[in-house]
Amino acid sequence: MENDLNGKIILVTGSSRGIGKSAALMLAKAGARIIVHYSRNSKAADEVLQQLGEQALFAVKADLGNAEEIRAMVESIIHQTGRIDVLVNNAAVHANMRPLENSFETWFDEWNRIVTANLSGTACLSFLVSKAMLKTGGGRIINISSRGAFRGEPEAWAYGASKGGLNSLGQSMAKALAPENIFVFTIAPGLVSTDMSEDNLTGPQGDEIRNQSPFGRVARPEEVGKIVVFFAGEAPEFMTGCIVDINGASYLRT
Ligand code: NAP
Repeated sequence: MENDLNGKIILVTGSSRGIGKSAALMLAKAGARIIVHYSRNSKAADEVLQQLGEQALFAVKADLGNAEEIRAMVESIIHQTGRIDVLVNNAAVHANMRPLENSFETWFDEWNRIVTANLSGTACLSFLVSKAMLKTGGGRIINISSRGAFRGEPEAWAYGASKGGLNSLGQSMAKALAPENIFVFTIAPGLVSTDMSEDNLTGPQGDEIRNQSPFGRVARPEEVGKIVVFFAGEAPEFMTGCIVDINGASYLRT
């Protein structure tokens, strides 16, 4: 596996923290050169660049809720590197929307914020990067979805819907782009120990959440990172369009 991804240029969105950071470090260990993306936390992004050492390219900033920032980011990357071999669509926002308590206005603002970033922003980025991949002979796109897309998210309707939409986007793109040598893979984790899940895991329902899995714990970021590395390199092209669960048997689909 070492040096599997030698020289590949990989953009990992949301790699300043959490799963994205873990995936970036593991991809780098396998030989890839990494572009670190963040939204606000430039200090954390710089720290990841340091940790990546020689495999670091540079950091880029863009709010996935802003299509123009996304376009400018892709143009800047292509200007600097000429190509993106693998795109890892990892960045996302989560919020409990308290749908039964909130006013329509509050609920709708949250809906727009989350769906715009998680689904529209990821779609814009995938569109722009796949156009660039067409010019360089192909590539791979890896989407980080969520168990919530299948299981339902009673407190986070927009998040669940955005991930359901992402699953569908990945399937559509897989069909459209396979003839162009671009392959699309989706990973659907259950809870993972990161900043995003911290409130839930440290709150009163923490034990109940951990015990949804027979392991009595949630996933570690590196466990998701391992699958990202597989899809970035070794995974057969014929897997394109797949959605792979990693949830410690907490929610099993048939
Ligand atoms: P996290 O720790 O909250 O980190 C989020 C990352 O996304 C950060 O790098 C952040 O950048 C970036 N980001 C946040 N809002 C953004 C925006 N509007 N535009 C651009 N970038 C933005 O998240 P995580 O837990 O690692 O989650 C990574 C992925 O796994 C997400 O797609 C999430 O939905 C999925 N997932 C997570 C869990 C879980 O339990 N953690 C479960 C299932 C699926 P800054 O550092 O600059 O803020």
